[in-house]
Amino acid sequence: MNAVSVLYICSAGRSGSTFTDMLLGGHSQMESLGEFSFIGKNLALGELCGCGVLVSDCQAWASVFNQIMQERGIDLRQSPYGLRQWDTCAARIIDHQQQTPTFLLGMKLRSTYMKYRYQLPQKIYQYVPFPPKVVGYIRNTCYMYDIVREARNCQIVIDSSKNIFKALALYEYNPSAVRIILLARDGRGVYLSRLNSNVPRKEAVVSWVKYYQRALPLLSKVVRPEHFLKVRYEDIASQPEKIMKKICKFSGVSFEPSMLDFTAGIRHSVNGNQDARFSRQKKGILLNELWKEKLTQEDLEVFDKYGGLTNRRLGYND
Ligand SMILES: [Zn+2]
Repeated sequence: MNAVSVLYICSAGRSGSTFTDMLLGGHSQMESLGEFSFIGKNLALGELCGCGVLVSDCQAWASVFNQIMQERGIDLRQSPYGLRQWDTCAARIIDHQQQTPTFLLGMKLRSTYMKYRYQLPQKIYQYVPFPPKVVGYIRNTCYMYDIVREARNCQIVIDSSKNIFKALALYEYNPSAVRIILLARDGRGVYLSRLNSNVPRKEAVVSWVKYYQRALPLLSKVVRPEHFLKVRYEDIASQPEKIMKKICKFSGVSFEPSMLDFTAGIRHSVNGNQDARFSRQKKGILLNELWKEKLTQEDLEVFDKYGGLTNRRLGYND
């Protein structure tokens, strides 16, 4: 039996995926990559690694880039998208040279193809090939995962890129090595976070609902039940030891108390939530349930109208 080598975190945005990724990265055999699909954009725009220096200047990434240069003749510092990981669409810090209307159209077409492919019965879809670009993305991703695992001497990489189709494609590519965590947070917490970024009420709920409406049935259909794990942000933040032990068991490694020392150690993670990546030394493990005081009755009514059912399906019943 192959050992688990990839833990992939699926979640809607603002659900604690970076926080979870970084906690797991406290294990000696797990390496936190952050939202790895965005590494090309991070290099192109000069963004920071979790260690605090530019990704292009980070020594831990340098050994990975140097090996790729030797083996493939591609210097990612010069050609950031030379080994594209997946179709990515940034919302705030955008590389307009790369994220063009033509690119976004191609991305939409590939995503639609994947959606219809997975609507077919399993006996059929497994014989329907992925789009050629998607095959390339998966190969590039697995290639880079292997180099990182070797360079950092660890068994498992944690990728919190969130995209559900990437999770499924990685799993189909190597089901014995890939494990998927479906992370959920009370939708009202996600909602508040989005309202604070000036997203209109309805939109703030609907995009969150869509994520889980797609992810829940697809994971059940494609991934063997013992290969994916549902985890709630609130449980991680309030009972970290219990949930980290559960994730370790799921991943086939022993629990290490260092996972609970959130403020210790360096993470060379890319992209992801800035606050979780750069403020952890100040904050430690903290349960954020500000929505309980900040959401108005009117906010809650809008949430319940569009998101109440999904929230209950995810186990938030009060
Ligand atoms: Zn770094």
